[in-house]
Amino acid sequence: MAPSRKFFVVGNWKMNGQKQNLGELIGTLNTAKVPADTEVVRQKLDPKTAVAAQNCYKVTNGDFTGEISPGMIKDCGATWVVLGHSERRHVFEESDELIGHKVAHALSEGLGVIACIGEKLDEREAGITEKVVFQQTKVIADNVKDWSKAVLAYEPMWAIGTGKTATPQQAQEVHEKFRGWLESNVSEALAQSTGIIYGGSVTGATYKELASQPDVDGFLVGGASLKPKKKNDYINRC
Ligand code: PGA
Repeated sequence: MAPSRKFFVVGNWKMNGQKQNLGELIGTLNTAKVPADTEVVRQKLDPKTAVAAQNCYKVTNGDFTGEISPGMIKDCGATWVVLGHSERRHVFEESDELIGHKVAHALSEGLGVIACIGEKLDEREAGITEKVVFQQTKVIADNVKDWSKAVLAYEPMWAIGTGKTATPQQAQEVHEKFRGWLESNVSEALAQSTGIIYGGSVTGATYKELASQPDVDGFLVGGASLKPKKKNDYINRC
């Protein structure tokens, strides 16, 4: 991984857990040894750690029942937001355009954004993985002015929650092409400095080889991040 980038690890707890049973997880996280060059984002309020919301809307305020604004997220002490997760895209039918607007707005309001992109199984089988992820990213790029607080998460939908992790080669191939796309379409400096993390059934058994790929800059971990005893593994990759 290039020295200009920081290894970046996110636990995505989704709509799981309540105060009582999350206590064990938080205890594990709080005692984890984190290498100095690793950034860890945990989706549960904790004064010692960065916290991410899992969604936000594209405007500052107004009559949008059920939505949350970047300002509200910051007000709760969180500094990051996950946007464009495949569950938002496909369960809640969010369009590329809406996600592009949300990413741009959250960044302009000062939140860090973990922007997710990824193809469905039929798209990979049809050989259009790049076309899909480049299009998703183009819509984001068309809207965003300052990328400095954005991290991109490549999450192939067929790998999320399925136990079918992308191979290190599959992840590296997409990440490398993706960095090339950023270089050609945004800027070389941004392509080098932007973290591209991988998500999709990352476990204690698969993270090491994935982390050894030059363009894999960290992980977005779902199911396995809910298992406290294994948690340190993803952080202590060295
Ligand atoms: P998973 O989820 O690790 O359970 O596949 C990843 C995600 O949804 O971000």
